[in-house]
Amino acid sequence: MPVDSASTEPETERVAFVRNAPGSRRLYSDEPLLDRARCPIGSDSGAVVREVVDPMTVLTPSASRPISRRRSAMSLAAPLILLTLLTLAAVPPIGSLAAQDGGPNANVAEADRLLLPPAWRDVPLRDDLPSPSSFGGFEFGSRLWQHHELVAYFRMLDERSERASWEPYATSHQRRPLGHLTITAAANRERLDEIRAAHRGLTDPERSSAIEIDRLPAIVVAGYGVHGDEPSASHAAAVVAWFLCAAQDSRIDSWLDELVLRVDPCLNPDGFERFSSWSNEYAGANPSDEPWHREHRQGWPGGRTNAYWFDLNRDWMPLVHPESRGRLSEFRAWRPVLTLDFHEMGTDSTYFFQPGEPKRSHPRSPLGTRELTARLAEFHAAALDRMGTRYFTEERFDDFYPGKGSTYPDLSGAVGILFEQSSARGVRQTGTRGTRTLRSTVRNQVATSFSSFEGSVALRTELLENLRRSYREADQAARVDPLAAYAFAAPKDGGRLDRFAELLARHDIVSRRLIEATEVERMDGSRSTLPAGTLIVDARQRESRLLRAIFDRPTDFEENAFYDVSAWSLPLAFDLDQTELAAMPSDDRLGEALEWERPGVADGPAIAYVVSWSPAEAPAELVRLARAGIQVHAASEAFVTEIDGETRRFEPGALAVFPESDLETGNVDDATLRQVLAASPVLRWEGVRSGITSEGIDFGSGSWLPVPAPRIAVLIGDGVDRYAAGAVRHRLDLELGTAATLIDVGDLAGAARESWTAIVVAGGSPSIDAAGIAALEGWIERGGTLVVLGDACGWGAARNWFGLMPAPTASGTASNPERRPYAEADDDRALERIAGAIVASEIDLTHPIGWGLADPHVPVFRDHALMLARSASAYATPGVYDSEAVLAGYVSPRQRERFADAASIVVASRGRGRIVAIAEQPVYRGFFHGSARLFDNAVLFGPLIENR
Ligand SMILES: [Zn+2]
Repeated sequence: MPVDSASTEPETERVAFVRNAPGSRRLYSDEPLLDRARCPIGSDSGAVVREVVDPMTVLTPSASRPISRRRSAMSLAAPLILLTLLTLAAVPPIGSLAAQDGGPNANVAEADRLLLPPAWRDVPLRDDLPSPSSFGGFEFGSRLWQHHELVAYFRMLDERSERASWEPYATSHQRRPLGHLTITAAANRERLDEIRAAHRGLTDPERSSAIEIDRLPAIVVAGYGVHGDEPSASHAAAVVAWFLCAAQDSRIDSWLDELVLRVDPCLNPDGFERFSSWSNEYAGANPSDEPWHREHRQGWPGGRTNAYWFDLNRDWMPLVHPESRGRLSEFRAWRPVLTLDFHEMGTDSTYFFQPGEPKRSHPRSPLGTRELTARLAEFHAAALDRMGTRYFTEERFDDFYPGKGSTYPDLSGAVGILFEQSSARGVRQTGTRGTRTLRSTVRNQVATSFSSFEGSVALRTELLENLRRSYREADQAARVDPLAAYAFAAPKDGGRLDRFAELLARHDIVSRRLIEATEVERMDGSRSTLPAGTLIVDARQRESRLLRAIFDRPTDFEENAFYDVSAWSLPLAFDLDQTELAAMPSDDRLGEALEWERPGVADGPAIAYVVSWSPAEAPAELVRLARAGIQVHAASEAFVTEIDGETRRFEPGALAVFPESDLETGNVDDATLRQVLAASPVLRWEGVRSGITSEGIDFGSGSWLPVPAPRIAVLIGDGVDRYAAGAVRHRLDLELGTAATLIDVGDLAGAARESWTAIVVAGGSPSIDAAGIAALEGWIERGGTLVVLGDACGWGAARNWFGLMPAPTASGTASNPERRPYAEADDDRALERIAGAIVASEIDLTHPIGWGLADPHVPVFRDHALMLARSASAYATPGVYDSEAVLAGYVSPRQRERFADAASIVVASRGRGRIVAIAEQPVYRGFFHGSARLFDNAVLFGPLIENR
């Protein structure tokens, strides 16, 4: 069993973006296709070696062949010219082919029939609905569709088919639409609201028993292509939708009678478009099957991710992106009983469908869901057996992290099924297990789509019953669980708690606020008083299963090897104080969101305007003022001052702006300054009337440090971890509101001469040549701040910029290791990996890196086992680890010991500049809003750090 921490799809890699190593090129396949044209071409060691050829691909480049077969009266050239013209035309040629005498559209449709499983090829089809090839004007699968073609096809089906309606639900970052095509019988269409309401009702144990399911059509969502470079998924969606709309067959009628099918053709439009453009750029008229061909070896960052290089198949829980938010809101409005999630994996594999690795199902997923997953698998197996397609189950892929598209539904009453097709990664590619073509891989995905629909009809009442039972069981379990409620607080930072409450609401998890300080009973029997504003989450509400799953902090696991992270606890990611309560506070103590201080600015004139650095919104406010040309100062020490007659204490990091009446530091007059400050969307700037403070630094003190206007660059390109770089870019661009200048590793020699306030190496091991390294070091020595995150610390340590702790020693010695079984090598290594755990940093709050934190203990995420060595300077290790370092996730006992002496953050001085090395990923997957402050401080306040 191969172990790949990186993801559930081992075809891609986590640490750095390394292109697929091409496999040896062998011209045979052990995964034959039923409509194959097999050509014995030789033998290898006595075995018959055969090339498997998709007959439709063989027809290329003459896409006209299926047409010319019937149009024998015409010369071959005429339809070729016609097709070429149509392909060049901007408007899809709807109907133009069908209008030809002799019905050439039917011929093209016939070619597209080969994309269907054999059992469905003879079904009569409406020929006034263009098939994908006739719509596109070229043989479907001979090049990739682009996203606008896919959407145009679905809109056409919406217009022309009375069975289908297209409903957009979101717009991607790059402004591409996402939507569902709802396909069902006319009778169901008339009562869709009722069907939807019945599904939602099944999730409500109070009324679910009254819902009649015998005649209730089941809602099934088929989602394709959350990873943009897995093209058979979205291309299969077009074939599936065409067939469901065009088929004239009683079996299909029964699907549409008994099911409401929602086809989501492209879950990641921006990634899909990136890969389609890439493939079409290089494929040509005669696509090469050679793994070394440029088409099959994507340039950085590749097509898998969305516009910000996030893996959208990890975003179902954190909901950082518009694609996921829109999809989840649909999921919650419709409450499907089954969701299908179509992917591709490496070229050298076969086909996979769930059930996956049995020991790595989420422990809270219902037993009934697992049973239905296995029963549906029988339908997929039969469908692929009929086609001679090889497949595997129950290994490699897991269902553990709740933010995945096949796992989240499991925890929400639906059955989520993952499908993985070995990829042609383009039009065609030959690997160690034969040739994959886009067309043959589409056919497999269509087959398992249909087997899912067949299975859904056969298991319709069981699937509906599973939705009802899973909520009923969760309700019963919650009632007997002594845990009554969770209480969450974010001292000094209401914004972070608000965001947490908003995210819970997107998951239909209800939270309320204490409207006054209230005494509560904790789970350990003690009593304490929680302040007004504390967020209370009733543990016995409808989503009790899901909320436990996303609040969990597991550290013990049945199985200790993970493909994805083993820790995700949302409260830790938001760095919230969490209290578990034995009783819900009474209703009269609970209210809606509290009103925070009115944002804006106090009355002037003042000698300074100040704001605390603790609120989540403060870093974006600093950026906003800098962009407006206002010089902001940061307090490097605490002070106490009087504001409107009230004594207020400000901790280090507090920001001040001075009107020009202060001749040394002010650069804007009071009225203009107040105008800028008044526009603050969430923070309130207080006016200070006197320069003298009652405690700590006065306002003319040298301890007020001018903060340079941020000008931040992020290294990208070969060797850089695209996910980590994407998370940093997302933080800078969309959270802080500053431009993230993306510098390719190859350009560093020239670009490091610019006056960046900070350059970020987000992760991986950037491929920088000697000239680039020299330029970077020179830039640091002239005063630059280099911020190195996560496993890039290994790369930084290799340059001798700072040190790493020695690697742990295995039992035995390197020259004479303990003898172990060959079969256990992967598992042995997996046990020592840190595949994704949340650990507790302890931060020096007097250091600029710690400014604004309410508490020195900060949960941070790490996905590697490198340990930073502490600095030789006593003042340059702002972060270490708590004595109990591991908060959630699997970390072996031997690795746990290493945290005791290691550093979480070190600052290495170099000339007039410095390198800030953070061993963890403070902005991991865009939802670690607690530790994000460490990153913000590093890039915004890094230039203020002195060599001490
Ligand atoms: Zn995938």
